Amino acid sequence: MEGLLTESQRALRDEVRAFVRDDVPRQLLLDMDAGKVSYPREFLEAAARRRLLGLRFPTEYGGRGLGWIDEIVALEEVGVLSTSLPCLYSLVSIVGEALNVFGTSEQKERWLRPAVEGRLTVAEALTEPRGGSDFFGTTTVARRDGDRWLLNGQKRFIVGAEGADYFLVYARTREDAPSHESISAFIVERGPGVEVQHVYGLMGMRGGGTGRVYFRDAPVPAENVIGGENGGASVFNQMMIPERMTSGAGALGGARAALEIAARYSDRRKAFGQKIRAFEAVSFMVADSITLLDAARALVQAAARSVDVEDEPSRVRRLVSEAKKFATESTWQIINNAMQIMGGIGYTNVYPIERLLRDSRLSMIWTGSNQIMNLLIQHEYYRELGARQPVRDVEADAPDADKEEEKVYE
Ligand SMILES: Cc1cc2nc3c(=O)[nH]c(=O)nc-3n(C[C@H](O)[C@H](O)[C@H](O)COP(=O)(O)OP(=O)(O)OC[C@H]3O[C@@H](n4cnc5c(N)ncnc54)[C@H](O)[C@@H]3O)c2cc1C
Repeated sequence: MEGLLTESQRALRDEVRAFVRDDVPRQLLLDMDAGKVSYPREFLEAAARRRLLGLRFPTEYGGRGLGWIDEIVALEEVGVLSTSLPCLYSLVSIVGEALNVFGTSEQKERWLRPAVEGRLTVAEALTEPRGGSDFFGTTTVARRDGDRWLLNGQKRFIVGAEGADYFLVYARTREDAPSHESISAFIVERGPGVEVQHVYGLMGMRGGGTGRVYFRDAPVPAENVIGGENGGASVFNQMMIPERMTSGAGALGGARAALEIAARYSDRRKAFGQKIRAFEAVSFMVADSITLLDAARALVQAAARSVDVEDEPSRVRRLVSEAKKFATESTWQIINNAMQIMGGIGYTNVYPIERLLRDSRLSMIWTGSNQIMNLLIQHEYYRELGARQPVRDVEADAPDADKEEEKVYE
């Protein structure tokens, strides 16, 4: 893939590599995994000092005005830090998307710029205890009360909840219309009526402040609505691009790190008097893994390009969903292979493979589970298929193609 990057993308990648190498202490990762850190705010501040947050956003709001292709190059490097830190890094890109695309200039100045500059921290509150996949079933409600809204409900599994200064929250704002016309997106600042609870022990992905957020008559000024009253569906659809692009691209970093550790190990570790890489059973796992990694990266790049060139929305949706699904499943497989290559020691905490494996499991579940990705992929593909005729009638290229009576469909 090296040859596909432009000079400026290579320079960006090297900047992010320097950040990941020099500004993120090993102890922070260990303390996060041990649950000793509830929210690593200093990580975001350090990234902001290097102007590495919100890369796609306009320079007037602190970003660099770059494209998705650039951002995924950066995300793969941050992904080497596994899942919690990359997720917090990505949240600026995710929540920022709503503000950048739908926000007024006042809203951008008030919330986007400080997030990109590392002065305010953000979280996205979408999932509810009754379900995450069924977004439009949202039960959190907002009731108009003069020039403000009062929010009631709860959201769970919210990364960054413990440290976020503000949340992007979806709530139902009318009852007399279909769901896609009755949900609004709000910026809710931490304050009265907003309570965060740390509820869960997590398999991985620790230290990122994942919590439950309760809204009890939480007052939200009317000017905090993003994308207009009842305009939440458009905001949600737009935000699924950064949600899934960041999940896919971030996963690649963890996979790459695990594969490198395992491949180096296989070049030193001996069994039956020879290096284990000499056994095809081992080196072919390396071959499978690097092939998966390159294929996943290529698909993420294709999706990034389709967003950057503003391809048809349905094709963007399909490619982004494919990229998220394939990259996260490939990552799981690659890290699993790495553990297998390393034998018993890979299962211990002498190497970080076990943490990478625990952390990476989540990426097949969140930001739309991979079943939901399949739902979208097949839906968009059938839609495309219905909208065009085949270039060549390949069906007619069979010897007995004219036996119409054998083509029974019911
Ligand atoms: C550690 C962690 C961090 C998270 N961070 C955030 C966050 O920051 N913000 C946020 O809003 N959410 C977050 N989530 C929530 C995450 O996005 C959801 O867990 C996910 O979307 C699935 O929702 P659910 O858990 O309610 O499962 P459900 O929606 O109940 O789904 C359960 C199962 O049913 C399947 N399923 C559901 N509907 C369909 C369908 N129509 N077709 C096929 N299969 C289906 C799913 O694929 C899944 O296998 C996080 C979750 C975790 C565990």
